[in-house]
Amino acid sequence: METVMPYTTKIPNTETHNAVRDTDARHHLHPFTDTQALNRKGARVITRAEGVHVWDSDGNQLIDGMAGLWCVNLGYGRQELINAAHEQMQVLPYYNTFFQSTHSPVTSLAQAIADITPGDLNRIFFANSGSEAIDTIIRMVRHYWTLKGKPYRKLLIARENAYHGSTLGGASLGGMPHMHGQCAPLLPGIHCIRQPYWYGEADGLSEDEFGLIRARELEEKLLEVGPDNVAAFVGEPIQGAGGVIVPPRTYWPEIQRICRKYDVLLVADEVICGFGRTGQWFGSQTFDFQPDIMSMAKGLSSGYMPISAVAVGDRIADTLIESGDDFSHGFTYSGHPVAAAVALENIRILQDERIIESVASDIGPYFQARLRDTLSEHPLCGHIEGTGLIAGLALVKDRKTRTFFDEDVGTLCRDECTNNGLIARACGNRMVLSPPLVISRTEVDEMVDRLRVALDRTYARVGGISAA
Ligand SMILES: *Cc1c(COP(=O)(O)O)cnc(C)c1O
Repeated sequence: METVMPYTTKIPNTETHNAVRDTDARHHLHPFTDTQALNRKGARVITRAEGVHVWDSDGNQLIDGMAGLWCVNLGYGRQELINAAHEQMQVLPYYNTFFQSTHSPVTSLAQAIADITPGDLNRIFFANSGSEAIDTIIRMVRHYWTLKGKPYRKLLIARENAYHGSTLGGASLGGMPHMHGQCAPLLPGIHCIRQPYWYGEADGLSEDEFGLIRARELEEKLLEVGPDNVAAFVGEPIQGAGGVIVPPRTYWPEIQRICRKYDVLLVADEVICGFGRTGQWFGSQTFDFQPDIMSMAKGLSSGYMPISAVAVGDRIADTLIESGDDFSHGFTYSGHPVAAAVALENIRILQDERIIESVASDIGPYFQARLRDTLSEHPLCGHIEGTGLIAGLALVKDRKTRTFFDEDVGTLCRDECTNNGLIARACGNRMVLSPPLVISRTEVDEMVDRLRVALDRTYARVGGISAA
């Protein structure tokens, strides 16, 4: 007989931490984790969080340079979000939106999203995760073309090294080979073009030239598969999990031009870029294109509740509505009232405290400048790219020749960050940061300094002579 661990928010002593780790090892399968490796060292037990910091059960305070998983945009411990959940639970903890019912948290949130999204994205479909939002879009655009009398328009085009979630639809649409390997056979009808990764793949071309060339791969692909067979092109404005790949300025307007030319729907996966990350409400605004439909999740509730949404342009929504038939798709928790109430309060705070304006004109530029001033001459740093409060740094063996390491230097550096009180993430040979939008200048300084120390230590471990 095993003892059942009581649920606890306060972990009183080391014995209990070890019990949590043991139970974790016995019963918990973690997402995206090598469980054997994890169990050898034991999971880090996170006990509490406040502002931009989290604490672990060993008493370490860490700066959360990743805002959880790119989502805690307002930081931890916002009492207004807690109250919104608490109050909504007392009034109506759950009701579905399937059978001709609605409630005010979901209608208010739908209106708020319609107001902040650009263009004619006036109707909102709710789900619980980014992956579900992406699956919703796959189903919706395919159904749209059937309703338009073009049932042959079913193909989707996406990109290498894109991340669109982990359901079968999301994993198939994404361009992550390791995920494809494990979930094959993939969803049929998906084609892939190369990513606009200038630093890693441009081979001497200017950023502008390279952006156009990679965008024009969409046109080549359309002509190859037949433009009339294609439902939509899907992309993240900035690829997040791919390592924060910021496209050249020329890229998205050219993608938009090609989509319009061949009447292919343009889908923005705004799960990371949405809600202020790039200094505008949505990444598509920062990169100057107008999607026909967009997914959002993570920052929508600052991660306090699971909720996602698909903002649908009039062209698609009107067609669905005028069909006079069910769109046979939805989730038990679509438009969950508690999640909706929290998301609504999250949007109110972003607006009232002018947080996105500050990402655009104050803390975002400060963060980008501090990163470059402190790190761009570091022997491991090939290139820094980013905008607003998202950034990626390429780790290289040789700065002159842009040679990457054979060994997994990202994981080394990630571990050195953690050891030095910073949660950063490694995506292959790139380090990425995406802190809460409410981070202060002092906290940015501290974050960047901790990253510098981690880079020095990583450099020493791969045989370089540390500057420190
Ligand atoms: C995280 C992410 C998803 C998937 O969201 P989940 O909530 O994990 O299902 C989809 N698209 C992008 C761009 C993401 O970053």
